[in-house]
Amino acid sequence: MRSMTTFDLQYAHRFYGFKGEAQYLHGHTGTLTIEVEDTINEGVNMIFPCNEIKKTAWDVLRNFDHALVLREDDPLLPAVLDVYTKQGIRYGHPQNTMKGKAFKTELATAYPDCRLVVTKETMTVEGFIKIVYDLLKDKLNIVKITFTSGDNKGSADFAPRSTMNRCPLCGITLNEQGVCPKCGYKKES
Ligand SMILES: [Zn+2]
Ligand SMILES: [Zn+2]
Repeated sequence: MRSMTTFDLQYAHRFYGFKGEAQYLHGHTGTLTIEVEDTINEGVNMIFPCNEIKKTAWDVLRNFDHALVLREDDPLLPAVLDVYTKQGIRYGHPQNTMKGKAFKTELATAYPDCRLVVTKETMTVEGFIKIVYDLLKDKLNIVKITFTSGDNKGSADFAPRSTMNRCPLCGITLNEQGVCPKCGYKKES
């Protein structure tokens, strides 16, 4: 069975080098749906608690919300950083409070202090799906990601990984020691 969780993200981007209107900086509200598949966890009668999926995913995805997403070779990037530096907001500001956890992967690097994500490829809906899967594949048993942004909609299916060991009391994934990071339950070995 599957659990589905939906997120709304507001972001600005552009398609650098693209021959069309999207080469201008513009914004979207995107809707991301993550589908997690597993067996029903006996104790809690759930696959995975949706609030925990939300928490786990939002921890990193928050970096894209109210953020500027630019490709690494976009000349706007040094220009924006220069302005932020001169304004004194490049390395954070007391009013920048909705920060996600910084990350760096092959595909993207998040700079939460200045609400910027730098991507290797253009952030199309397809590009974003790849980034999200890469960020969360070890944390959640993701089988499908759908992303809608403006007129663009994309989805990708992923092969389910092996069943994860989940806590029979609260449903979240046990750590390598077989201990629930939330409630402290320990699996008998
Ligand atoms: Zn766009
Ligand atoms: Zn637990």
